[in-house]
Amino acid sequence: MRNSNRLNPETIAAHAAGALDAASGGIVPSIQTSTTFIRDREYELVNKQNMYGRDNSDVVRIAENILNKLEDAEETLLFPSGMAAIAAVMRTTKNGGKILFQSGIYWGTTKWIREFCQRRNIQSTEIDCANIDVLEEAINKFKPDLVFVETPSNPWLKLVDLTKTSKACKANGSLLVVDSTAATPILSQPLGLGADIVMHSATKAINGHSDVLAGVLSVSDQTLPQWQDIVTDRHDAGAIIGNFEAWLLIRGMRTLPLRMERMCDNALAIAQYLEAHEKVETVLYPGLASHHGHAIATKQMSAGYGFLMSFIVCGDQAAALGFCGALDLIHRATSLGGVESVVEHRQTIEGDSTGIPGNLVRLSVGIEYVDDLIADMGQALDNSV
Ligand code: PLP
Repeated sequence: MRNSNRLNPETIAAHAAGALDAASGGIVPSIQTSTTFIRDREYELVNKQNMYGRDNSDVVRIAENILNKLEDAEETLLFPSGMAAIAAVMRTTKNGGKILFQSGIYWGTTKWIREFCQRRNIQSTEIDCANIDVLEEAINKFKPDLVFVETPSNPWLKLVDLTKTSKACKANGSLLVVDSTAATPILSQPLGLGADIVMHSATKAINGHSDVLAGVLSVSDQTLPQWQDIVTDRHDAGAIIGNFEAWLLIRGMRTLPLRMERMCDNALAIAQYLEAHEKVETVLYPGLASHHGHAIATKQMSAGYGFLMSFIVCGDQAAALGFCGALDLIHRATSLGGVESVVEHRQTIEGDSTGIPGNLVRLSVGIEYVDDLIADMGQALDNSV
């Protein structure tokens, strides 16, 4: 038995953390489309938890409760996208404050934080957080209000030592926020390693079906003043996920542990295949012993190394684009974490200013039969690179 004190993630997810449809007795909660809720003749709310759709709804609370249990968090809030969740947490930094964030992370995050800091007169510094000595020194010197790391990072698959980072943050009064999108709550639990807030783009593997935009924040201590600001801001400013999206998320999350198991197995097999391939220069996947962050990943990602990898093909940008174009089965599309495998040529998306090599291909591995994926990549490498 893995965990005798609380239910294990597979059980929490499959049972939607115990959610039922109280009114009908259905074992699946229903979607409320109502944006407003009635009061009785004494003007009391009939259901004290629900007044207006922007503030509260059962289906959003159910989805948050599942994630809260999977993270072992004190409180969880859903947002309409991952970026809305990141923006909510960044906005807790006061004008004139300081933010330290990881270099080479998801480009959308980097762009947003840079512009936000400029607008709000916030000092910022971008650090290679995979180098823990550099990171610790930067936190000690800069004493940021907020430290934002992404592990494993997208698209470089860098690993950040969260235990050491959280110690440095605590010593300097910095809030540690971790984007754990590429790990999901199944593979890694940053709050247990000392992070204050964990963030995910739930658009990715948490939902897993490429049909919902969502973001999530979970906190280890509800009384943190920054968390109180986030709660108030979401409530009053209205960055709330729609009920239909929350319901789809509940449905998607029932199979999250199962999907992660299959995706991690597939990804490791593919990474090993690519590493041995003569037309591939480098494979960046934390599950490979050759990966610089393998030891940290083994410590922090107990249930698998994830579904995301990048690899560098021999040759130039044309070779990488030729490889992507020659794929018959694997989709060419942005995003990651879906049941279907997708590749992306990141330089085309980001441009060359961010330092992404033209011959880098990012791969998000799905739940397909792994031999089919390997066969598709094999023919594409043979026919293009
Ligand atoms: N964080 C990471 C690691 C991502 O890859 C993404 C999107 O690709 C985001 C955050 C933003 O999430 P969303 O697209 O749900 O706004």
